[in-house]
Formats: sequence, C-alpha cells, structure tokens
Amino acid sequence: LTILGIESSCDDTAAALVRHAPGRQPEILSNVVAGQAALHAAYGGVVPEIAARAHVEKLDLCTEEALAVAGVTLAEVDAVAVTAGPGLIGGVLAGTMFARGLAAAADKPLLGINHLAGHALTPRLTDGVDFPYLVLLVSGGHCQFLAVHGPERFERLGGTIDDAPGEAFDKVARLLGLGQPGGPAVEAAARSGTPRIALPRPLLDRAGCDMSFSGLKTAMIRARDAELKDGALPMGAQADLCASFQAAIADVLAEKSDRALAACGFRPAAFAVAGGVAANGTVRGALAEVARRHGTAFVAPPLALCTDNAAMIAWAGIERYRAGHRGDTDLVARPRWPLDAEAAPILGSGK
Ligand code: ATP
Ligand code: FE
Repeated sequence: LTILGIESSCDDTAAALVRHAPGRQPEILSNVVAGQAALHAAYGGVVPEIAARAHVEKLDLCTEEALAVAGVTLAEVDAVAVTAGPGLIGGVLAGTMFARGLAAAADKPLLGINHLAGHALTPRLTDGVDFPYLVLLVSGGHCQFLAVHGPERFERLGGTIDDAPGEAFDKVARLLGLGQPGGPAVEAAARSGTPRIALPRPLLDRAGCDMSFSGLKTAMIRARDAELKDGALPMGAQADLCASFQAAIADVLAEKSDRALAACGFRPAAFAVAGGVAANGTVRGALAEVARRHGTAFVAPPLALCTDNAAMIAWAGIERYRAGHRGDTDLVARPRWPLDAEAAPILGSGK
C-alpha cells in the first residue's frame, strides 16, 4: 500500500510518500517540507493570508518532488491523503482543493485526515507501537493527552485550558529578543543558564490532567523586569530566564504525564510524545523519566516527524485505508476539529 500525503494546515507546505506491507516496517519513501519562516519573519508570527498564498504556490512543487524522490508515479499511488483540519483555514482549503483535483485527475481515492490524528499516530509509523497507547501531543497550537485505542478511536484525557507550550516558547522568545520559532532559540539560550528564577507551576494543585501556560508567560514578563539592569538584560540573566522557563514547562508536563499514566485505566503499550515541543531535550528527558518510573516504554519520534510533516498524514491515510475507507469525496476543510470526534463522518452528517 503506497499513499501520498499532503499537509498545509499551518506554515509548512509538505508532501510525502509512505509505503507499507502488513507485518513489515512502514517505509517513508520521501518527506518533503517547504517551510515559510522567512515569509513571516518580519511579522513576528504566521500571517494566515500569506501562508495560504505560499501553500497555493508550493503544493504542486512539493508533490512533484515527493514523487520524484520516492521514484513513484501518481498512477502507482493507492490513495491521496490530505489534512482536512484543524488549522488555518486558508491553508487547509488550499491543500484539500489541490488534493481533490489530484485524486480526481488520477482516479484515486481521497482520504481526509485530521492533522492531530497524524501527530497522534506517528509513534506507530516510527516505532510500530501497538494499541492502546498514551500520547502527549504538545505543539505550537495544541497540548493534550490522548489515549489512542485504534486508528480512529481517540480519547482525550485532559489538556491545556489556555495556551499551548509551543506558543508560550514563541512568546517568551519574543519577550527576550530571541528569534522565531521560539522553542529552539529558548532551548539554545538555556544551555548556558541555570534554572534559578522562581516561576509558578500552574494547575499542579488541581486534580486531573488539565494544564495552563498563560500565567507562566505573565510571570516571565515580571521575572524579566526584575532582572533588568539599567534597562538592559544581562546575558547571564537571559540564559537563566530561558533555563527557568524551560524547567517550569518540563515540570508541569512531567507531573501531568505521571497523572495521565496513573489514571488512563489501561496498560499502555507505550507513552509517546508528538508535536514540535517534543523536540526539546529537557522536556523529552523529563517525560522519559516519568515513563521509566511507570515501567512503560517511552517513544519520541525523530524531530523531523515531531514537527509538521506529510509523512504522518500519509501514514494516517494508510491506517484510514486499512480501516476500510475508500474516499472522502465530500470532505470539507475544517478550522476546528477535535480529535475525539474523529469517528464522526467527515461531512454531510450535520456534525
Ligand atoms: P499544531 O501542530 O498544533 O497545529 P504547529 O504547527 O505550531 O502547531 P509544530 O510544527 O508541531 O506545531 O511545532 C511548532 C512549535 O514547536 C513551535 O511553537 C516551536 O516553538 C516549538 N518547538 C520547536 N522546537 C522546540 C524546542 N526545541 N523546544 C521547545 N519548543 C520547540
Ligand atoms: Fe502540527
């Protein structure tokens, strides 16, 4: 089974080919990602309109390249899988329109994929993890614990009630005059710092797996102001602020992961992370330690498969195809699409 995946829900245009034979390890034949960071740099964040235009320009180039690198023709593909949401609606529309045209022209089934399902199923692509397992999806736009019971059965155990950690990393980087994306910049700066600055660990006093990160951002503004000397931030203080912030995020994620593992009600085949923040070494280390304490295997996919990519969409397409789907011809682009509603039909049911 060979599926072409297409992703354009945020600021990366991506196309990939994944091949899988039952009982074998899936093969990523190609995984092309065209980022747009340079286009948005001047604005300090992703501009939806600019993103949508760039997707329109790059979708066919990325797809051609993905096919060429894989050495596969469109005729040899079994289906086209495309992110149908959630995300920036202009980008999702660009991707679904493009994929629909491609699938129709080549007479291939079209599969609509939930972007979050793509992230959540990645541990199966990279490590062949069996159901059920627990995954912490932690990215620029999301933060939630999901019990993954099957390719289309996700149960949300809790998540952020306000910002996502990636967004907090990005805002803190801006606050401290570091570049974007903020996560890697803060992590790099933190390397020479010590986590000496006291910051809150929001919602740890509340039972359950819900989290909050917006207060941490406000606390960082106050902490930065307290460190200013003659209106400027000393180099050491910047590193210490970054290290302290990163430690706070890692502590909250680790403590809540501990609770999710204790409360999920089944013995997970693995505890996995997905999403861009899983790239953070301190976060990974803290989560690995929690999994070790619970005697559960810890799975962290390679960085290129943690951040947005189309291989995960192609893989989710393979899972959806295997589950019996042969074409979501009536799919629509959805700006919002909670994962635990995944079992619902893509469109037309009034849901
Ligand atoms: P979503 O997947 O929720 O739609 P997204 O496209 O922003 O959102 P990803 O591409 O998965 O998500 O991740 C990007 C986020 O990950 C950014 O906020 C970025 O700052 C963060 N990130 C990337 N690398 C690191 C790192 N080393 N440490 C912390 N955060 C990181
Ligand atoms: Fe994502």
